[in-house]
Amino acid sequence: MCQPYKKNDLVTVTIEDMGTGGEGIGKANGFTLFVKDAVVGDVVEARITLAKKQYAYARVEKLLKSSPHRVEPRCPHHRRCGGCQIQALDYGIQLSYKQQKVRNHLIHIGGFDSDYVDQVMEPIVGMEDPYRYRNKALYPVGMDREGHVVTGFYAGRTHTIVPSTECYLGAEENKQILEMIVSHMEKYHISAYDENTGRGLVRHVLIRKGFSTGEIMVCLVINKEKGKKRDSSFEKKEFIPQQAQLLSALSQIKGMTSVSVSMNSEKTNVIMGKEIHTLWGCSEIRDVIHVRDMGREGFPTTGQELTFSISPLSFYQVNPIQTEKLYSLVLEYAGLTGREVLWDLYCGIGTISLFLAGKARQVCGVEVIPQAIEDARANAQRNGIDNAVFYVGKAEEVLPAFYADKQEEEQDGLSHPDVIVVDPPRKGCDPVCLETMLQMCPDRIVYVSCDSATLARDLRILCDGGYKLRRVRAVDQFGHTVHVETVVMLSHKS
Ligand code: SAH
Repeated sequence: MCQPYKKNDLVTVTIEDMGTGGEGIGKANGFTLFVKDAVVGDVVEARITLAKKQYAYARVEKLLKSSPHRVEPRCPHHRRCGGCQIQALDYGIQLSYKQQKVRNHLIHIGGFDSDYVDQVMEPIVGMEDPYRYRNKALYPVGMDREGHVVTGFYAGRTHTIVPSTECYLGAEENKQILEMIVSHMEKYHISAYDENTGRGLVRHVLIRKGFSTGEIMVCLVINKEKGKKRDSSFEKKEFIPQQAQLLSALSQIKGMTSVSVSMNSEKTNVIMGKEIHTLWGCSEIRDVIHVRDMGREGFPTTGQELTFSISPLSFYQVNPIQTEKLYSLVLEYAGLTGREVLWDLYCGIGTISLFLAGKARQVCGVEVIPQAIEDARANAQRNGIDNAVFYVGKAEEVLPAFYADKQEEEQDGLSHPDVIVVDPPRKGCDPVCLETMLQMCPDRIVYVSCDSATLARDLRILCDGGYKLRRVRAVDQFGHTVHVETVVMLSHKS
């Protein structure tokens, strides 16, 4: 049977499931429809946007019967903004959807037995409050048709700014900060950057907040246009017209700790420029991450903590409360007694390494970005940790080189890792990295993943190489989006 629908057709469909991108899935006349903005349980009239041979994409034209799982989203822009995909779905159902997504990937991509998966999977760790969890916000600045300065978010897959200073996932202070900047720009006729011409001054506003310290950082990304007048004002560190007034206003905001500018004159999608000048206050803010007891109800803190410094360019997890739970789970799964040698591959600024260092004999972190490793070393020092070493390079190159060296040398105890932790980007681990891990044969492997599809693929390789899947637990780091983090523990069969 060939596709009965064509573009723009209207179809009535009951939504029975949800896809990995958060779209509703339903069947009409035996054909599968993927319907944007529909949630499981809805009956909708959908308009076909793209018809393929076996299936079609559509979007909701009219909600005929609302699902019991549908809730009123807090954000009026949730359909246009690319940030959230499932804000209209009840949060409890969002969690089951994510649990199910991980389970399905383990079964269908990893080839694990479904009963066994149900045995080893623990309940997903949700958020107490799924709003206001992000500690970082990046807003583009532009001009509207009437020539007014606007800031907001890009409408899905475009660079058109939808004006909005309120994102309910971010810190409450963001709105006031953005309004101050916009009104300062309007008052002194300061231009926003125009992507097409490469002209105009203000490109983006970055806001970061240390949730446990209350410290706030604002960084204005500006276009460093060539020109004599500008250059001389740059020497005086006057980067923005009437800068003193803006700084005085921003400094009134409770918690304001750092105001800086980042210079970016490139015509690219890379947002931050490398050159940063602090205009007011400190160059960094601090945040504290607490260790939590994941075996107890409500995951209470244990009293242990680590302090991190964050600059405008530093990588730092965006949901600090869930990050504490994620790292505490890694700590629990690593099963440390104080005698272990542990490798932390894809370590970023060393957060997991340092979190685990107190319970291990030695930790070795590996990360490809040199600046992140500098931060990791500084963070180790700041927290008085002296049993952590960090290597710059690709995990799939550093690990095999280290292993080959150690095999030639006399065994000094470091060649045999007791535990390897990996936290790769979405594409998962490189096959060479997985192969070397199998050769090094640690007792336990803890895999932290932000993409359960590549996780399942890599787990299959590790399990075929002698490991057994023991524990799996998802953690919701990004409520209202379809993303989910997963922590897995494998131990060697022998
Ligand atoms: N574990 C850290 C960071 C995880 S994000 C944390 O919890 O904060 C993944 C990290 O892997 C990024 O910092 C990225 O720069 C790094 N990375 C990407 N490819 C890599 C590779 N081939 N080898 C080592 N690190 C890599």
